[in-house]
Amino acid sequence: MNFSLSQRDQQHIWHPYTPMKLRPTAIGLVRGEGALLFDENGKSYIDAVSSWWVNLHGHAHPVIAEAIYAQATTLAHCMFAGLTHEPAVQLAEDLLAVLPNNMSKIFYSDNGSCATEIAIKMALQAFHNQGQSRRTIVALEGSYHGDTFGAMAASERGLFTAPFNDKLFDVAFIPVPTADQAQHSLDALIQILDQNDVAALIVEPLVQGAAGMQMHDARALDALFKAAHAHGAYVIADEVMTGFGRTGTLFACEQLSEAPDFMCLSKGLTGGTLPLAVTACTQRVYDAFYSDDLTHAFYHGHSYTANPIACAAAVASLKLLLTPESHAQREQLRCSHANFASHIANHPRIDNVRHCGTILAMTVRTVTGNTYLSSERDRIYHYFLERGILLRPIGNVLYLIPPYCITDAQLTHIYDTICTFLDQDSTADLAIV
Ligand SMILES: *Cc1c(COP(=O)(O)O)cnc(C)c1O
Repeated sequence: MNFSLSQRDQQHIWHPYTPMKLRPTAIGLVRGEGALLFDENGKSYIDAVSSWWVNLHGHAHPVIAEAIYAQATTLAHCMFAGLTHEPAVQLAEDLLAVLPNNMSKIFYSDNGSCATEIAIKMALQAFHNQGQSRRTIVALEGSYHGDTFGAMAASERGLFTAPFNDKLFDVAFIPVPTADQAQHSLDALIQILDQNDVAALIVEPLVQGAAGMQMHDARALDALFKAAHAHGAYVIADEVMTGFGRTGTLFACEQLSEAPDFMCLSKGLTGGTLPLAVTACTQRVYDAFYSDDLTHAFYHGHSYTANPIACAAAVASLKLLLTPESHAQREQLRCSHANFASHIANHPRIDNVRHCGTILAMTVRTVTGNTYLSSERDRIYHYFLERGILLRPIGNVLYLIPPYCITDAQLTHIYDTICTFLDQDSTADLAIV
């Protein structure tokens, strides 16, 4: 008896973000190439969400694969205290050359939750080391900074955090700086800053991913950064999702005039091949730890900090990202999204069609409401899956964040399928709306 991958999986594996009783089957994949994933039955899917927003240049990219092989056969891993290696040093140099000018030091870890949690710990300890007690962290409503406790604490309280809310430290949440509520958001921040206890403001700049690709205003966000700095607080830019070209610039922060004090990177860092994360910070932050006092050191690290293979993959991925070809792909994607967005903007089945760089999102009108658990989500997911398109709607938010190598034909197929879905599938519930 031959069991399929899906069946064998069900025997032993517990998947992330998955109600295992209600959605038990995982598609068994055997291969990936470009924007396509192939399952064990030979069916292909366009990966329209870059496999949870990580893939930049396509699946199993040969250039990154070769860099991984070369490093794995040279130095696969070593601890990162008291030791260093070429890929970590090269990557730090390469990143600092493209990050905002005020970024000065690179601290490695291995996932986005750690990257944000490390920035929060650094901000708190920097004040602690200097004998100042600033303890408040400020975040945006709807924020998502990861799933470990510190990262959860800085995230919107909701479905994901509910079982743990009593264990999470208090965070002050302010309204998102959209053009509509720019002043409201700034006023709320200033009121908190006036208490002189704020260590850091943490934000996902320009696009809040897990909130449903919600976008806000660059100038209004800039005003928040300036206010935080005027009151002596740090600013943490969580670019785990927005980094590496997603928003039209290499980093979302390039669209602001005020630079953050910390930048958190992960997801696209290795082009979607291996787990790696970076918390970049300014010289001023670093100096708060640079001391003859041993208690001022940052006592934080992970077994796989700065894994050489992952760093080598990141060096190769960043090199690909900076080529004129990749830049042209992102520009093409941005234009295609903009055209399609204006084409469907007034469709009666959707609200709030929005796009930023290579990200396109829309809110599908439903009768069941807009929650993460709405049945609309499953309906959209399966409709597209049957037509060879892998999406992962957030509740009733349908969004695209494809690998930059996606072809025109693939993109057209996705756009056409969205139109067909919205047109034919509508009448039943629209009558009730
Ligand atoms: C995905 C994400 C994280 C968490 O990263 P993981 O690698 O999944 O732990 C943090 N912040 C943002 C903005 C993210 O999108």
